[in-house]
Amino acid sequence: MVHPGGFLEVITGPMFAGKTTELIKRIERQMFAKRKAALFKPTIDNRYSEDEVVAHNGLRYEAFVVPTTEEGVGRIVEITKREGYEVIGVDEVQFFPMTIVEALERLADEGVYVIASGLNLDFKGDPFPVTKELLVRADNVVYLTAVCTVCGRPATRSQRLIDGKPAPKNSPIVLVGGRESYEARCREHHIVP
Ligand code: ADP
Ligand code: MG
Repeated sequence: MVHPGGFLEVITGPMFAGKTTELIKRIERQMFAKRKAALFKPTIDNRYSEDEVVAHNGLRYEAFVVPTTEEGVGRIVEITKREGYEVIGVDEVQFFPMTIVEALERLADEGVYVIASGLNLDFKGDPFPVTKELLVRADNVVYLTAVCTVCGRPATRSQRLIDGKPAPKNSPIVLVGGRESYEARCREHHIVP
């Protein structure tokens, strides 16, 4: 795609939907088109790497790592303006405070092609407020689905499992002891006891 000018694009869906892959692809294409582009990601997402955005299929790209605070949001704006980036991608955008919505929208107003990628719903099935707000303000939305690990149908939700069992609604955000994991699930197989 050619650079659309000031534009806010949101990539969303559950875990394993290919959000990070799609974000990297879009950024890379802009780089091939000689646009000055950069990726940002929150420090909280240090699953595989400190200074790269890494997808579940191993695809990786260099990224600025910023804290999930208002200061971190300020860093994104500051770096983008200082370096004159024409395109920026923000992965795991749902982890940032609400102030990121206005910050990204302002960058788009100023001519930057902003691509924000983030989870649609938390493990309980409730919307992430940042993603929800970005979705209605976006110029374009890319809504991706994963594959349900139970039935193979399109998955729109992220199932949290603790020691292999569906995590209850009131389960602690940070776990001590038990092993947890996440799976992509369709509406029918998304279970929140
Ligand atoms: P996201 O950022 O949305 O979590 P990624 O782009 O990091 O997704 O990874 C997508 C990749 O995850 C797919 O290309 C596929 O290789 C892998 N994958 C693992 N489990 C699933 C699943 N249940 N449905 C679809 N893809 C899956
Ligand atoms: Mg991802």
